[in-house]
Amino acid sequence: MLLYLCEQMIGHTDTLTQADKAIGDGDHGIGMARGFEAVRLKLEGGSFAALDELFKAAGMALITSVGGASGIIFGTWFRGGTKNLAGAATLDSPALSAWLVDGLAAVKERGKTKPGDKTMVDALEPAAAAAEQAAAAPLDEALAAATEAARLGMEATKDMVASMGRAKTLGERSLGHPDPGAVSTYLILRSLWEYTEKSGE
Ligand code: ADP
Ligand code: MG
Repeated sequence: MLLYLCEQMIGHTDTLTQADKAIGDGDHGIGMARGFEAVRLKLEGGSFAALDELFKAAGMALITSVGGASGIIFGTWFRGGTKNLAGAATLDSPALSAWLVDGLAAVKERGKTKPGDKTMVDALEPAAAAAEQAAAAPLDEALAAATEAARLGMEATKDMVASMGRAKTLGERSLGHPDPGAVSTYLILRSLWEYTEKSGE
């Protein structure tokens, strides 16, 4: 599932570049591609006894390879999300919920971000809430709900004026464009959901 995620995020480089060109410096696509290529290499080169080790390794790969704000932010999501996953053997709906809820808390703490700042938090927060609500449902349903919530959260960032990161210097001119990190957050969840659809899990 994570290898599929890497492949998809690398494939979305242009989308993310365009999103960041509109309100930032245009490096988000290249940064995420570099990050998920590093994750892919890490996963292919290692073996992981449990879910938390896997996500921690992915998070460290993002932190050390992406550069820019988003390496720390997305790496913190992957790594910080493992807080309550010690020894978990499979990604089921409760594990998804824990990963998103704890990952969100870690990102907010690290990034000093609150909802409405026009960051990836505006997509991750509704996704975490949706996954928490769907924790008793099958994984594909929980991922579908989290993906749709992230999509709506990402869409809502178009109506926000950036107050964090590079886009804040644009002020009102960031209106009408989604936050690039929110687009990535939606694409990450959508890729995980797509994988469950394809694999029938
Ligand atoms: P940079 O801003 O260094 O150019 P990127 O373009 O790769 O980095 O990533 C920008 C994205 O990172 C933003 O769209 C936003 O979603 C996210 N981001 C930046 N700073 C923060 C923060 N403090 N908290 C949460 N997300 C952030
Ligand atoms: Mg950028």
